Amino acid sequence: VATSIELDAMRRAIARSALGLGTTSPNPPVGCVVLDPAGRIVGEGHHVRAGGPHAEAHALAAAGTAAAGGTAVVTLEPCNHHGRTPPCRQALLDARIARVVVALVDPTSREEGGIARLRKAGVDVEEGVLADEARLVLGPWLAAQERGRPHLSWAYRLDDHGLSPVGGPALDGLRRSYDAVIGPDGRVGEGVPGGHNPADVRLDRYERFDEFAGLAGPGALAGLYDAGVRTALLHGGAALAEPYLAADVLDEVIVDLALGAASARPPTPDLHSAGPVLVPPGFRLQATDRHGAVVRVRARRG
Ligand SMILES: [Zn+2]
Repeated sequence: VATSIELDAMRRAIARSALGLGTTSPNPPVGCVVLDPAGRIVGEGHHVRAGGPHAEAHALAAAGTAAAGGTAVVTLEPCNHHGRTPPCRQALLDARIARVVVALVDPTSREEGGIARLRKAGVDVEEGVLADEARLVLGPWLAAQERGRPHLSWAYRLDDHGLSPVGGPALDGLRRSYDAVIGPDGRVGEGVPGGHNPADVRLDRYERFDEFAGLAGPGALAGLYDAGVRTALLHGGAALAEPYLAADVLDEVIVDLALGAASARPPTPDLHSAGPVLVPPGFRLQATDRHGAVVRVRARRG
C-alpha cells in the first residue's frame, strides 16, 4: 500500500508530467519523483521530448547517490526496451532503487514489461497507484495508442454573436499542449509555435506534416498518428469540425463561454442547425473554470 508521502509524490509527478504535453510524442508525457529512504524528495523530472532522457533518468540524475535504497514514484511503468535511450528499469537498478511506485501500466511495453523485470531483480513494485489521477495527463496518449489515431479536441468560443474559433491568447495557451493543430483551412501545423520546440523534433515534424498540408480530415488521422502525432487540436468553426463529429472521432470540446449579461436570449448557434447550445450531443461536462468574464468548459465524448 502506498504511503501518504508516496501519494503526494505521485501527485507531484503527475502535475510535473504535464510540462511535457505537446513535445514528447510519440512518447508519453511522464513524470517521476525520487524519494530517499527517509521519504524526502531528492530528485524529480519529466520527459521533455522524444529522443531525450526519460522522466526516470532526469529524476535519478538529480538524486545522484541519494537515490540508493529509496523509492521511485513514476506515472507510467518504466520502460524495458532499448530505444533511443537505455531502458529505465536498468537505470533504476543501477541507482539501487529499492521500491518503485507506478500509476499506470504501459500498454506498449514490449515483450516483458519493466515492472516484471524490476520484480525479478528484487525491487518492490506497487502498480495502479492514483491511476485515475494519472489519466488526467496520460489519458489522451493512452487513448491514441488504443485507437491508432490522435486524441482530437476542438476549441471554440460562444458569445453573444454565436460560435467562432478560439483565437488570440486563448489559442496560444491551448495549442502548446498539442502535438498538432488542424487549422480552419484544413492545414496541419505544429502545436507549439516555431522556436519553442526542440529543433530536431520541429524539423522532423515539419517534414512529415508537409505531407498532410490541405489533406486533413477524418481520413488523415491514421496518417498523422503514423507520423508521431498523439494529440491534435481542431482550430476552426463548425464547418471544420462537422466531418470529425460525423465520423465520431472527436474526443473532446473546449468551449470558451463569454456571455456577459445575467439575462439574455442567445442567438441560434451554428454548431448544428438543430442545436446543441453548448456542446455536441453525447458529450459530458468534465470541468468548468471561470477565467475573468469567460467560463472555459471541457466536455468529453461518452
Ligand atoms: Zn524509460
